Amino acid sequence: MPKVDYAALALAFTSVVPKDAVVTDSLRTFAYGTDASFYRLDPQIVVIVESETQILGVLRLSRLYSAPVTFRAAGTSLSGQAVTDSVLITLGEGFRTFAYDPQTEVAGLGPSLVGGDANRLLSPFGRKIGPDPASIATAKIGGIAANNASGMCCGTGQNSYHTMTSMRVALSDGAVLDTCDPASVAAFRSSHAALLDGLAAIARDALADPALAARIRDKFRLKNTTGYAINALVDFEDPIDILVHLMIGSEGTLGFISRIDYKCVPDYRDKATAFVVFGDLPSACRAVSALKRTPVDAVELLDRATLESVKFKRGMPVDVDKLGVGAAALLIEARGPDRAALDERIGLVSAAIDATTTLNGVNFSHDALECARLWDIRKGAFPAVGGRRPAGTTVIIEDVAFPVERLAEATSDLRALLDANGYDQAIIFGHALEGNLHFVFAQGFEDKAEIARYACFMQLLADLVVGKYDGSLKAEHGTGRNMAPFVEREWGAAATALMRRIKALVDPENLLNPGVILNDDPQAHLKNLKSLPKVSSLVDSCIECGFCEPNCPSHGLTLSPRQRIASAREMARLECVDPTAPRLADMQQAYAYAGDTTCAGCSLCSTVCPLEIDTGAFIRSLRKEKAAPLARKIGAGVGDHFGLTLNATRLALAGADLAHKIVGPEVMQAGARLAREKFGAPKWTPQFPRSRGKLSAATTGCGAPVLFFESCASRAMGPPRGDDSEDLREVAARVFFRAGYRLVPPEGLDDLCCGQPFASKGLSETAEAKALELAARLSGQGEKIPVVFDTSPCASRAKAFSGEDFAPLDLVEFLARDILPKLELRPVEGPVALHATCSIRKMGLADALLGVAKLCAKEVIAPPDVKCCGFAGDKGFSTPELNDHALRHLGEALPEACREGYSTSRTCEIGLASHSGRRYRSILHLVDAASR
Ligand SMILES: Cc1cc2nc3c(=O)[nH]c(=O)nc-3n(C[C@H](O)[C@H](O)[C@H](O)COP(=O)(O)OP(=O)(O)OC[C@H]3O[C@@H](n4cnc5c(N)ncnc54)[C@H](O)[C@@H]3O)c2cc1C
Ligand code: SF4
Ligand code: SF4
Repeated sequence: MPKVDYAALALAFTSVVPKDAVVTDSLRTFAYGTDASFYRLDPQIVVIVESETQILGVLRLSRLYSAPVTFRAAGTSLSGQAVTDSVLITLGEGFRTFAYDPQTEVAGLGPSLVGGDANRLLSPFGRKIGPDPASIATAKIGGIAANNASGMCCGTGQNSYHTMTSMRVALSDGAVLDTCDPASVAAFRSSHAALLDGLAAIARDALADPALAARIRDKFRLKNTTGYAINALVDFEDPIDILVHLMIGSEGTLGFISRIDYKCVPDYRDKATAFVVFGDLPSACRAVSALKRTPVDAVELLDRATLESVKFKRGMPVDVDKLGVGAAALLIEARGPDRAALDERIGLVSAAIDATTTLNGVNFSHDALECARLWDIRKGAFPAVGGRRPAGTTVIIEDVAFPVERLAEATSDLRALLDANGYDQAIIFGHALEGNLHFVFAQGFEDKAEIARYACFMQLLADLVVGKYDGSLKAEHGTGRNMAPFVEREWGAAATALMRRIKALVDPENLLNPGVILNDDPQAHLKNLKSLPKVSSLVDSCIECGFCEPNCPSHGLTLSPRQRIASAREMARLECVDPTAPRLADMQQAYAYAGDTTCAGCSLCSTVCPLEIDTGAFIRSLRKEKAAPLARKIGAGVGDHFGLTLNATRLALAGADLAHKIVGPEVMQAGARLAREKFGAPKWTPQFPRSRGKLSAATTGCGAPVLFFESCASRAMGPPRGDDSEDLREVAARVFFRAGYRLVPPEGLDDLCCGQPFASKGLSETAEAKALELAARLSGQGEKIPVVFDTSPCASRAKAFSGEDFAPLDLVEFLARDILPKLELRPVEGPVALHATCSIRKMGLADALLGVAKLCAKEVIAPPDVKCCGFAGDKGFSTPELNDHALRHLGEALPEACREGYSTSRTCEIGLASHSGRRYRSILHLVDAASR
């Protein structure tokens, strides 16, 4: 193959996409190239596309330069189908489109819409999409359709293949076909008659061989994502239908899915769950066969090793240590359109199980919390293995399917195979109704013996799954590079020949994701294996799944948590291999901004990480290592003279406000922009706070005392010019008084700080000293009285260091528990906007905040696309692009009628106001207005 001139191609791309959408630097190509699989390929160019026109332009140029391309949605694929060493085409937000027709119950979805977001948008209609991979909170529609992903409930009947009604697809030759547009179909029939004739001929050949046709039909009774969806050849007559159904599960090797229309399925709210434990695996599997004939929604099998891995999880209904070696459990869920229908279903499901073979009976719970706990047990299995694996190894989740009637025998065989090959720590669980088993084990790829062990295991696995059971080697996760060498083994020569003809016909230049699904190299699954060098105990267990990405404010601006960890690993690898490599120096230099400066330190990544990895803590540890002695000294000085620092801040804010008053907002903004460009001055907007000035005495005579701790930001920053809001302490005092409390400010407040501003900069000594000082002061004053923090990040930090000394309360906790029940409330006319800060989310108080707001306002809008606001204490001033990026969807999420917003952090409120054009204040103002 001729060498591709990637430098020229990158330049050419800038004629079809904006310049900054073409990424060629060492750090970001590597970082953006990472997916969840254990394969590593480093793209030459990453190009971020926002529209079909751009895709067509990129495809045209890639063809011209003979450069293979790979599409990328969320990069959660496990089989190596979303990585490339050529051009990676990453879908931007332009493809996050959504439309729903309640009449037809069809949703038209763009390929970069996250599956979970689609379901959230469909929820008011009582509908959801059929495919339900466990990764749905991160995986995007393009990847879900192109992998034919499925999960616990969807089986084969509700996967993308069976619930797609139409599709818009672009081929590598630049043709676009939209099957819900008759004009597009007619034009395509005429322009691509040869292609359609070719597909019709392949289908005829499949049908002409009755044994082959029967085999195809039979194999797709089970979940199967090995090879192409050649059931399209026997299910449809019109080659247009065949083409679009072949796109499902084609892993980006046949065309680009611009939109997919799904017939939605009911999303029943009435659910019940049972965790049924059996003394032996055959009894559990017999129950599965019986359940197959009932209206059950999900049946998850957990083998003995899985139960062992989750035995300490809260809500585990049996004592796992007392179970025999062969025990197994089924997690069963039933759903119904209403309670009566659900109960009827539960009756049928329960009757199907021979209760005498169970160890704990068949007891369904309707309690949402208990059900969530039971599901958490099952979800905890995979992280349990991931978390305890040796550093440097990867965790592999395999995904096979056996005929359900042979599940018991197959599961025992699989267990024996794993044990015989040294994978005795592996756990087996899965979607039992479909005979779909996942098994999870740790695997090192650092030495040849380990690779050889894995290679041998894969051959034996193929012998077992295909040779003995005629099952699927990949049921859900796609063929990728991992199973490409085994496609022919599973399907046989005739069916594989059909697949090769399809690829040659639809993508004759082999431009789209070559090497994926079909690969002539029998060793392809053993090449380009990812290495996971040790970096820090804080992140070494990361499996690069990408689940943290949607929560991260810098994802899409610079790096996501996964990309921060993956790049740190690569830099650690390069340090060992060649510490003088220019690529290493390039990456290190770029990481200082992309990895460090633009990390908000919010730790929201940890809340969605299956392994609870806190990338923010990792970045803070790097900052600590890096913090120069001078910076530490200055930090200590500021900490020692905190009151003076606050006064200086107030003075600076007053000065800025005076200038604002004199020159007006336009001149002020222009001047501030210039000062920022020339001298790196903080970003100024008209929402910039005025100095709060002298704190009011705010005495409210009687009532039970409450220590009210206002953060340093609240103490220094008042409302912006033009906002005549009352002083926060006055408002708090009044609200507390109404509920029978007396506000008491802590003594010597101006010198106090929880240490958060220092901790976020890696100045841990000063942070700790300030925390100790605060703890000592508050424990002395507040032994018997509540200590309420007005600002959530400070409350969260105080909870971490308070120990037994005092019990800090977040304002929201106090309002929800102690204040609101004692007030008479008249909800204000809405709508009002609400922002849950990262700390509120991490403290598990987001629902409480929403509850407070809903009691105080008739309509509350909490935009789901806004997570961490990216202001991060002072980054909104120093690195405002992070705040801009994090809040890019805020304005559009708020209706015009919504003029007021509420939160629990003064600095977050500055950014929220600037980006929405609404006034944002403490939630206390809302409670005050509703309780007047
Ligand atoms: C912890 C974990 C659990 C998982 N659980 C499940 C599960 O329960 N069930 C399951 O099925 N999978 C599961 N997966 C695998 C994976 O999450 C899913 O297959 C998911 O649907 C992939 O979506 P994505 O957006 O990440 O796609 P990507 O990984 O970005 O891409 C997937 C494939 O689609 C192609 N592609 C992307 N967009 C387009 C497009 N617009 N047009 C054409 N091709 C495109 C890519 O080239 C690639 O080949 C899991 C993964 C992880 C890490
Ligand atoms: S940090 Fe956690 S969520 Fe993020 S990629 Fe690593 S394991 Fe996955
Ligand atoms: S701490 Fe916040 S900004 Fe940093 S990686 Fe985690 S989610 Fe992203």
